[in-house]
Amino acid sequence: MVADVEEEEGPLPPYVIEHARSGRSKCKICKRKIDKGAVRLGVLVEGPFGSGYMWHYLSCAAKKMYERVEEAYAMNAWEAAQDPPDPADLPTLEELKVIAEKAAADREKKERERKTMPYAEIAPSNRSKCKQSGEPIPKGAVRIVLGKEAHFGNQVRTAPFAVLPVHLHDALEDPEIPQDPATLAEELRENSRGVDPDSLEEAIAEAGL
Ligand SMILES: [Zn+2]
Repeated sequence: MVADVEEEEGPLPPYVIEHARSGRSKCKICKRKIDKGAVRLGVLVEGPFGSGYMWHYLSCAAKKMYERVEEAYAMNAWEAAQDPPDPADLPTLEELKVIAEKAAADREKKERERKTMPYAEIAPSNRSKCKQSGEPIPKGAVRIVLGKEAHFGNQVRTAPFAVLPVHLHDALEDPEIPQDPATLAEELRENSRGVDPDSLEEAIAEAGL
């Protein structure tokens, strides 16, 4: 966090909207560099080494934290700037709200489309391999995707582990695949939209579930 914070002096307002005074800041959200002179929104953070601003492009901030943009506009945050933009040149709150709502809708859509593991799916190409056996999975075949835990320091992330039904049982031996075999068939029926029921039942039978 410290790297994105520029040092300031004196009591600081919670928000500032300004022309970037240097080209060193990065947008906290998209990670792109903010060019000197570009309009940026600073959100005050109190850290162990003092206070400073985290910087954002206005449009990025609108996507991720519209309420804060609203607050910044409500307190005319440009008035706190050393190099203030002309408020008339800034996007209006209404425009930023449109961006915010579109971003929220996109996130919701993605969330809905995200598949819940375990699930079965049809291999869209010949390029994937059964993670358990290394065999290629033919295009159009049913593959079963289990969640496999990957450890990064203290964090555990669950990554998809796609297998051919015939190799499913071996995959279930893996301690990093915490899948209860007893409920697997039912979970697959629940989670596998996009596979026709007959093919799914065939795969479940082939897997010996
Ligand atoms: Zn950004």
